[in-house]
Order: sequence, then C-alpha cells, then structure tokens
Amino acid sequence: MGAYKLLVLPGDGIGPEVMAEVAKVIRWFESKRGMAFEITEDLVGGAAYDAHGVPLHDDTMSKALAADAVLLGAVGGPEYDDLDFAVKPERGLLRLRKEMDLYSNLRPAICFDALADFSSLKREVVAGLDILIVRELTSGVYFGEPRGIIDDNEGGRIGVNTQRYTTGEIRRVARSAFELAKRRGGKLCSMEKANVMESGILWREEVQWVGEREYPDIELSHMYADAGSMQLVRWPKQFDVIVTDNLFGDILSDTAAMLTGSLGMLPSASLGEAGENGRPKAMYEPVHGSAPDIAGQGKANPCACVLSLAMALRYSFDEGDEATRIENAVESVLAKGIRTADLLQVENSEPASTTEVGGAIIDALDESLGA
Ligand code: NAD
Repeated sequence: MGAYKLLVLPGDGIGPEVMAEVAKVIRWFESKRGMAFEITEDLVGGAAYDAHGVPLHDDTMSKALAADAVLLGAVGGPEYDDLDFAVKPERGLLRLRKEMDLYSNLRPAICFDALADFSSLKREVVAGLDILIVRELTSGVYFGEPRGIIDDNEGGRIGVNTQRYTTGEIRRVARSAFELAKRRGGKLCSMEKANVMESGILWREEVQWVGEREYPDIELSHMYADAGSMQLVRWPKQFDVIVTDNLFGDILSDTAAMLTGSLGMLPSASLGEAGENGRPKAMYEPVHGSAPDIAGQGKANPCACVLSLAMALRYSFDEGDEATRIENAVESVLAKGIRTADLLQVENSEPASTTEVGGAIIDALDESLGA
C-alpha cells in the first residue's frame, strides 16, 4: 500500500494552530501504527491572498485534485472583509469544493459523554448521540438559475432564487448517504418539502427509487424538513443518517451541531466521485471558522480539526478502527478534564492550551496501545 497523499491547507486565524496539533497526530500514526503519509502543505484563504493575490492559487488547486484527501483548517479574518467578492478568502474554499465536485457533505453530530452537559438540551436527550447529516453541497437553491434582484417596474424589486435538482444530482448524493447508512446503523431518513415543492417531490421519488433498487436492506424513511427540525431537537437519537438538500442541510446540520455543545468539537467531510484508486475526492475540515478573536493566543480547541483527520482515515483510507482510536483518545482527554476554555464551565479550573490538549491526545493515543 502506497503512502496516503494529503494536501494540508492550514489557512488563516486559528487554522495553523489547530493544524499543528493534527500534524502531531499524523506523525504519531507514522511512528506507532506504521502508516505512511505523503504530506504537501500549501496556502488557502487570506494567507494565499497575501502571497499570490488570490485566495487559491492554480497550483494549489492542481495539488488538491491530485491528492487522496485535502485537510483544511479555516479561512477568513477581519483584515480581508473589504476585499472584492471574487478574492475573498471564502472563495478559495468554494473553488476547492466546486472543482473537486464535492457534492456530499457529511456533518456528524456526536455527543461525547463528557460534554453532555454542554448541550442546551437535557442530558438524556443527547448523551451518546451519534447521527450523521448528509447535505447535498453543489446544487439546489444556492446555485439555481435564474437568480438575482430585479426591478418590478412598479417602483419595487423582486429577489429571485431557483431551487433546481436533477435526477442525477439527487441519486448520487442519495447513494452516498445509503452507503454511509450501510456502514453505520442501517437507517436513512430523507428530508425535503414534498408537500409544497415540486423539487421536493422529485427528491423523494428519486431517493425512494435508489433505495428500492440498490439498497433494499437499508431502512428508508421520508420526513418533511420542518418536521425533521422538530424531531432533531425532540429526540435526535431516533436518527442514524439523514440526507437532505443544500438549503435544508445547511440549516438542519447547524441545528444538529448545536445539540452537541461546542463549535470547537465539530468535524466535517465533503466527498465527491471515486477516482481510479477507488477513493472519493475528499476534503476534511472543522466546521468552525478562523476565530480571529482568539487567534494566536493558544486558546483554540484543536479537537474539531483532529476529528476531521479521523474522518479522513475512515472515509478516504478505510482505516475505521484507527479513526475510532482518535475519537476515543479525544473522549478520554475530555473526560480527564483537559479542555480548552470553550469547554469549561465558568467555575472550573484553568483552561488547557491548544498544545496541551494536542499533547494530551497523543498521550491518550499512547495509552490506547497499552504503552
Ligand atoms: P468562528 O467559527 O470563527 O468563531 C465563532 C466563535 O466560536 C468565536 O467566538 C470563536 O472564538 C469560537 N471558536 C470557533 N472555533 C473555535 C475553536 N476551535 N476553539 C475555541 N473557540 C472557537 O466564526 P465567525 O467568528 O463567525 O467567523 C470568523 C471568520 O471565519 C470569518 O472571516 C468567517 O468568514 C470565517 N469562517 C470560515 C469558515 C471556514 O473556514 N470553513 C467557517 C465559518 C466562518
């Protein structure tokens, strides 16, 4: 087996700080688990703009397309707020998603037992929660044409966006979600608004079509997205995998994220079609942004980025057991009370720094070997 080719893009703000802790975990897997990584590091976002005048250089894009997986920190910051839209840091991220055609966005909502009291919901509702939201990422109302703001010729204006999905777009993200359900609890719930939207009717019919023909063993259900949002906060453990469109997925995945407590704990994956090596095009990144308010102070929680590496091991490299090893290490660090400030109750003791949490994760990985 060749080395796993990773393109690492730390980005801006706390991105480089949390990515430095991920680098330690990668080195641990090389020295203790015999894995080989071929790592290339490059710039994205504001850092790329500072160096090249664009938020993603063409060379970096080519490296991303050639890599087995991209690991991204975060982009953005107040110093870039006034840039033209076309060169804003976020455009670098969007270009990566678009040119890699990453249509399936995976947002796990896992509630580590040690953090159950951080949720705004009752402990029994969230403790042990482990669900996965799959959001269609490259189509739907954020991309549909026509779009724009036009005059209504009567002194007013009309804002237009178009919700548009094709059979192919729905089936490919549905297949991605069915595959994930197969590796997990065997249940998939598809959410749309088939009661009021034609695109929702098509969504429901196509997901059903894929399920009946290709995944008869997966328990498929359908739910209107508004009802789904209520069920997510009422009893989220009823779900295993949820698949939904770009707009509903944007909202539902943020709701699900907050069930689990802190932004500093949330990883994500964006997957595309499998290449010749059988691996999907893939980018892994924490859900949080560049957190300029705490950047450079050693306060950032590195767990979301470390857990993004765990997702890369599971979904790009088929190293599910090693991914679980990372997740267990994070859980044990939290249980020991070694936490950055975002995970501390006010009356608690001193917060740990980014590097202390990273070091504790390495210790916990060592412990997992019985060392
Ligand atoms: P943010 O996620 O950067 O921060 C929101 C709040 O959460 C802040 O108080 C921050 O300190 C805290 N926080 C976030 N991550 C944390 C971590 N790992 N550890 C501890 N605390 C953490 O969102 P924002 O403040 O709205 O945006 C800041 C910048 O990041 C903006 O330029 C925005 O455009 C960008 N952004 C980038 C991404 C991305 O790169 N994917 C996502 C969201 C926002």
